[in-house]
Amino acid sequence: MKPLIVPFFISHQGCPHKCVFCDQERISGQSSGLPATAEVLETIERFAASAVGRPLEVAFYGGTFTSLPRGEQDRLLAPLQPLIAKGRVASVRLSTRPDSVDDDTARFLAARGVTTVELGVQSMDGEVLESAGRGHGAAHVERAFASLGNAGVAVGAQLMPGLPGDTPEKSLESLDRVLALGPACLRIYPTVVLAGTRLADLWRSGSYSPLGLDDAVSLCGAMLRRCLAASVPVIRIGLQPTEELERPGTILAGPWHPAFRQLVESELFRGLLERLAMDVPAGSGIEVACSPRRISDVAGQHRCNLSRLREKFGIVVRRITGDNRLHPYDLEISCSGKIIAGSVLD
Ligand code: SF4
Repeated sequence: MKPLIVPFFISHQGCPHKCVFCDQERISGQSSGLPATAEVLETIERFAASAVGRPLEVAFYGGTFTSLPRGEQDRLLAPLQPLIAKGRVASVRLSTRPDSVDDDTARFLAARGVTTVELGVQSMDGEVLESAGRGHGAAHVERAFASLGNAGVAVGAQLMPGLPGDTPEKSLESLDRVLALGPACLRIYPTVVLAGTRLADLWRSGSYSPLGLDDAVSLCGAMLRRCLAASVPVIRIGLQPTEELERPGTILAGPWHPAFRQLVESELFRGLLERLAMDVPAGSGIEVACSPRRISDVAGQHRCNLSRLREKFGIVVRRITGDNRLHPYDLEISCSGKIIAGSVLD
């Protein structure tokens, strides 16, 4: 059963850097210091009351957890210990920088019941990391993966295609290098320009151009396909919409869309529909079957995938039906009694 996340946002706490793109408070919509012990316990209790049987996962997001003084890390994790022992908290996740994890840190986290650490990898390309002001290299990522893996802690990775100096090829190469390290999950955040960041100055001066929305969707689609092929879950694509993020003047430029992931999923189905349509005579009417929860992704926003089939192939989709037999990334097209099947993963 999917865990219910109990989130604590510790924006910029512990962070020894200021990456060119970062404004954690705007990204999370939270402005906060470190939560007091009582607040941690109260929040967990509040979420437990609505968990209805779901396991609880405590998550410390934002900031660089393992750059906090060890005493502060301990203070945040200590109240969880009796709850973990009693099974009331099933798992603990936190995010940090790759260069803030070594063997000792990994063993400390494992001993305090941390089950997953998400590393802000962003890129595995040295030049891109330097241009982004990350202050670490790809070797730090590899070492952090090894330390955490040896301590028995699962590792997630965050990637940011479209940073200064990045290209689609570099983004895909970074992804491949991360996938080779065996991540438990991935988050993909195409770079957007937030007000008040150094990236905003670079963008204003004309020395940085973010990805356009269509290019970002297409690149993230290619990244998602590689993750699916490697059986690595992608738990987020695109920044989560928050009131702060959506306030006019917060995002200055870049491939922002409140339903970015849906655009990406729809793009994958558009590609599959077009591949399958090659075997359908122009002018045909077809029916499409897919997993029931994929119907809107298959149709695309404003039914754009269906319009595209009509314009490009002269094919009219008469109906899309949900079929529980089908895998979430499979489709079947029926045309004149013939069934043509395929998968986004083919
Ligand atoms: S290390 Fe993380 S929290 Fe710190 S500035 Fe960079 S992205 Fe933001």
